[in-house]
Amino acid sequence: METMTIDDVELKEKRVLVRVDFNVPMTEHGTIADDKRIVESLPTIRKILDSGGIAILMSHLGRPKGGPSAEFSLKPVAKHLGTLLSSTVHFAHDCVGEGTRKLVASLKPGDVLLLENLRFHAEEEKNDPAFAKELASYGDVYVNDAFGTAHRAHASTEGITKFIKPCVAGYLMKKEIEYLTQAVGNPKRPYVAIVGGAKISGKIDVIQNLLPKVDVLVIGGGMAFTFFRAQDVEVGDSLVEVEKIPLAKKLLEEIKASRRRVILPVDCVIADKFDNNAQRRVVPVTKIPVGWRALDIGPETAQLIRLETKNAKTIVWNGPMGVFEMSNFANGTLEVAKILAEATRNGATTIVGGGDSAAAVAQMGFEAQISHVSTGGGASLEFLEGKQLPGLAALDKK
Ligand code: AMP
Repeated sequence: METMTIDDVELKEKRVLVRVDFNVPMTEHGTIADDKRIVESLPTIRKILDSGGIAILMSHLGRPKGGPSAEFSLKPVAKHLGTLLSSTVHFAHDCVGEGTRKLVASLKPGDVLLLENLRFHAEEEKNDPAFAKELASYGDVYVNDAFGTAHRAHASTEGITKFIKPCVAGYLMKKEIEYLTQAVGNPKRPYVAIVGGAKISGKIDVIQNLLPKVDVLVIGGGMAFTFFRAQDVEVGDSLVEVEKIPLAKKLLEEIKASRRRVILPVDCVIADKFDNNAQRRVVPVTKIPVGWRALDIGPETAQLIRLETKNAKTIVWNGPMGVFEMSNFANGTLEVAKILAEATRNGATTIVGGGDSAAAVAQMGFEAQISHVSTGGGASLEFLEGKQLPGLAALDKK
């Protein structure tokens, strides 16, 4: 990786300011619903502590509007992190200000401090230079390990790098970038990309960026039906973005010209309403009756994907194959998760983009059987679209 990492800098007795992504889902009772992002940041924190440094951690949580609120406090995260590290994690009740400055000054090597939610200050998202400078003043070294926010140019991810040196990537950021770079840059072949999700508009840039690179492109999920409409196939009440039909037509032409193998569903699970308890049937995609809608891929399509990925050496997957949130329409997504797990066992590198597909893989219990499940929804999507991530671009190069 051309970006400098935590392995390239001296950490001993340094105050190491780490932008982590502790934006974890919380239950209505204020407990952590899924601690994956906290767990994934442990290697970086442990490295700092084992090297005799001080770890000063900062993050956002949720989308607080208009200042501090208990609902979005990182305090429960500090407590949970202390349990995971089996040591005390100090907590600063504000991410800036006199009290925090004093707390930072009192820290000794081996100490860990978590600052309160950065987004309690509007300056964070505005990338305010004075705010970034104050944050920067807490550290001797800046580490960005928050892959999930790397696509945002905020004070703690981008602005800060103008006021502190060196600026390097943590281990989670490094892992994310290495896997995703392999997917968009130098994949082992055959290379299969599986793209799903609700809408074509959300995935168009991913399809266009990956199309010239893949050997096989699989298109599933709701967006497949806009492609069918673009070929004048009737799809009943299935999800169609009417205004994107011309775009889907253009993409189909690009696909044809690219001579890549592109797989669209051949069968689907249809329902008479958008409800888990709706009546349902499996039909060919060309036989969706009026008043019915496709909410999942069918078994033949899953089998086709299995065949197409049999010898794959790299598989990237972004977007569920159906409405996996409803158990009766989760099977296609489950099958793809199983296919990736099988491919991983057979030696392929398998990568799941963050967001809904990562949630589905976690919900179905397949996370440990896949090479890499990204912690960043928007960030992994933008990386797969070929865009530069400001939080990564701002770090020092080797
Ligand atoms: P995205 O954020 O674009 O990856 O879309 C994820 C969403 O797509 C999930 O909430 C799924 O329920 C939804 N989805 C997948 N397939 C379908 C479908 N056939 N019809 C409607 N929604 C779908």
